[in-house]
Amino acid sequence: MLVMKFGGASVKDAPSIRNVAEIIAHHAAHPMLVVISASGKTTNHLEELAFLAKSNQEEATFRKLGNIRTYHQAILDELFGENAGTVQEKVNNFFKEIKRIVQGILLLEEFPPRTYDRIVSFGELLSTTIVAGYLQHQQKDCLWVDARELVKTDANYQAANVIWSLTSKNIQEEIGPQLQPGRSIITQGFIGSTISGKTTTLGREGSDYTASIFAHCLQAEKLMVWKDVRGILNADPRLRTDTIKIDRLSYEEAVEMTFYGASVIHPKTIKPIFNKQIPLLVKCFLDVHEDGTRISEDVNPEPITSYIVKKNQTFIHIKPKDFSFMDERLMQQIFNHVYKSGLKVNLVQTTAISMMLCVDAPEAIMEEFKALLLDDFVIETESELKLFTIMNFNIRDLKQAQDALMVQQNENKLYFVKREK
Ligand code: ASP
Ligand code: MG
Repeated sequence: MLVMKFGGASVKDAPSIRNVAEIIAHHAAHPMLVVISASGKTTNHLEELAFLAKSNQEEATFRKLGNIRTYHQAILDELFGENAGTVQEKVNNFFKEIKRIVQGILLLEEFPPRTYDRIVSFGELLSTTIVAGYLQHQQKDCLWVDARELVKTDANYQAANVIWSLTSKNIQEEIGPQLQPGRSIITQGFIGSTISGKTTTLGREGSDYTASIFAHCLQAEKLMVWKDVRGILNADPRLRTDTIKIDRLSYEEAVEMTFYGASVIHPKTIKPIFNKQIPLLVKCFLDVHEDGTRISEDVNPEPITSYIVKKNQTFIHIKPKDFSFMDERLMQQIFNHVYKSGLKVNLVQTTAISMMLCVDAPEAIMEEFKALLLDDFVIETESELKLFTIMNFNIRDLKQAQDALMVQQNENKLYFVKREK
């Protein structure tokens, strides 16, 4: 069987949805599960809607809600004309629910993360309802499934952790028997629910991860992620003019690239498919004949040099006040605080009496971390830096790492942290 994933850009308007329907029809020989994101920038709009409500801007809130509704209605009208029938009814009900939640926020001026997850989940509920409705309208065999009944998570709202045992049991029992050639099963990316049924989300851009979860649990032959780019490029085309498409990547290269900032696919996507050795194809929905990029156990025979940049990095230099060695005891002490305060570490280096870290660190977290270590250590930090990663680097690339705050090189990878724009 196949798992396919379509991102927001691929379902942003009626012509795009028709194109998705064609791609699904083209693969109809395979039993298929299809994961879909919210249309266009809907998740951002729902986020803005919730924050408007929270700041009690009633008029702006309802204007925003009206815009989100008009956007979806235009897609419905163009796809179904007068015949939207039950799809229209479902969409109306979703908007009634959104309105009720928004009114609740306005009234209580309270906006817990739980409510954030409920609101943004409607993006995927709407897009999948419209796509599944369209396929059924085209007389295709298509089932709509609520991912929240299958993907079970903890209550860590906005970045919930999957409970794998339950999720995989649900997916195998509920989806397994429904799979058959000629039928597509449509479900939402990004969303799940707690054991008690509260809606959760897996973190922004998390639909790729959802697709990987389904592929893992159903032991898919392959996972196809459809994007508006030709495949994975060796650099961000906004930053370099000489980019090339990479035909093949190993799981390890893919995980390194996505972790260090290549935004084509969500970094959490690789582990579940690696563990079942399922190949991932990054394909272009604008040109289905393009080969795209294949991520599997195979390494590219001719390594391609890739350039990746991760922004908003903070460099931390930590020295014991009393000149103690940076030994295992001190390292453990520091890392206990790293873990407690929630810093996300990207690089670590130690010397005899110092430790250097490159981290993702919102201001508040940094302050908390510094306060925890202040008694025993001298701490210097510098923020708004960039972490550069060069995979399969050449000797001449080393020049770029000159005057970096931190440099690391292992095997074929070069990492450095710089002030540079
Ligand atoms: N719609 C969600 C977001 O924009 C999930 C996704 O697109 O992957 O973050
Ligand atoms: Mg999206």
